[in-house]
Amino acid sequence: MSDEIKTLQEQQLWTGNYYNEDMGSRDGLLDKLGEECGVFGVYGHSEAASLSYYGLHALQHRGQESAGICVADGDSFKYHRGMGLVKEVFNNDNLTTLTGANSISHVRYSTAGESKLANAQPLVFKYRGGDLAIATNGNLTNAAEVKRKLEDMGSIFQTTSDTEVVAHLIARSKHTEIELAVKEALLQVEGAYAFLFLTKDKLVAALDPHGLRPFVMGRLGNAYLFASETCAFDAVGGTYYRDVIPGELLVLDAKNGLVEDRFSPIKQRAICSMEYIYFARPDSDMDSINIHSARKRMGKQLAQEAFVDADVVTGVPDSSISAAIGFAEQTGIPYELGLIKNRYSGRTFIQPSQELREQGVKMKLSAVRSIVAGKRVVMIDDSIVRGTTSLRIVNMLREAGATEVHVRISSPPFMNPCYYGIDTPDRKELIAAQKSIEEIRVAINADSLYFLSKEGLLNSIGRPKGDVNQGNCTACFDNMYPTRITEESEVGCGCD
Ligand code: SF4
Repeated sequence: MSDEIKTLQEQQLWTGNYYNEDMGSRDGLLDKLGEECGVFGVYGHSEAASLSYYGLHALQHRGQESAGICVADGDSFKYHRGMGLVKEVFNNDNLTTLTGANSISHVRYSTAGESKLANAQPLVFKYRGGDLAIATNGNLTNAAEVKRKLEDMGSIFQTTSDTEVVAHLIARSKHTEIELAVKEALLQVEGAYAFLFLTKDKLVAALDPHGLRPFVMGRLGNAYLFASETCAFDAVGGTYYRDVIPGELLVLDAKNGLVEDRFSPIKQRAICSMEYIYFARPDSDMDSINIHSARKRMGKQLAQEAFVDADVVTGVPDSSISAAIGFAEQTGIPYELGLIKNRYSGRTFIQPSQELREQGVKMKLSAVRSIVAGKRVVMIDDSIVRGTTSLRIVNMLREAGATEVHVRISSPPFMNPCYYGIDTPDRKELIAAQKSIEEIRVAINADSLYFLSKEGLLNSIGRPKGDVNQGNCTACFDNMYPTRITEESEVGCGCD
């Protein structure tokens, strides 16, 4: 954890469960972006399944639809998958059956409301070399193209997941060595992905050539760990070892130990900037940059770009609190918990009417009257998607007595859909693609509104200058997609 994390307020960020659980768009009550998926891998630890359980629990904010663990003991696979949260899917009884030292595991977010156990990962297949399990985070932008070709050659698909496309490519390879078959398969696909492959005696990890999705490697004694975020290593008592490099193929087996290979040269580095802004947990580091510290810098930068005189600063929990603290530090305006999240509201499966949507937001967030009444409030949020939630929160603050509500957003206007694993609505539903900033201000009933500049965002993340967009993907803000996007490229997450 970063040394910069020191105040009590900051510590509060991770003393409880840090989830964006319930904050995604799946139940339609809050118009936040949908998380993607999380992967976790263990090689060479006798308690692989238990470690996976804790690792997945730390990654729960990345997906709450399904969870699964597949374990290999050198001879065979054992796996368990189910719908729901990690704590709902796994218990002592099913975990103790998952014996073996190597594992891959997954938490999944589902787009478009499609919740099917058949799509829960890891997916398990047979290929020329034996059993194969696959877990992934991301989305293939040429999946439809590749799938059509495979179907023309006789392949039959059982799920709608991109992972199955890769499984079919591996199955068609002439290679029996998994790492060679994986290399051949990955050279035929495009997009964003962090893949974990498991056979009965090998574990293979691969990251797309742009490094769009986060993927890190850790150690626990002699064991190797892989995860979407470093917070999963902290959860199992492991330590961060290094980031998986874009285009890299890491192979672990008993004979050779760790073999560091590549399937592709690095292409334009483009790690997802929304991970820094919203998705990742504040105690995670990505490319050695702490997420909480980056968000604080975004808040400070916002204050420099769009200062407003006010009495209190508050952040929309959980992901905007770090930026709100940064804004408060920069301006000297006190940070207060003007909005609190009800952590026990549970997921809401109702298809809400307009009135119930209003109620649903109140079920998840409350304005603290004694803090905001009679005050000029700066409300920091990380993004505005459709604008409907922002309006409700601003109104909630006004109903609680705020005399002015100034909205500051710690990202540029979100104007373009994501093809790399983030569940985003159609462009026509994105308020920033349809309205001017002044029109958005009116629509959300704010006294003033400002979005962080792209330059301010890139400097706040703090990746080295020189690369395009300082090595970040910013396509949802500037329409500069780092890969080929075709008419067939599907928006969202390839786990579906
Ligand atoms: S388009 Fe946006 S959300 Fe998607 S990977 Fe790029 S920065 Fe992330």
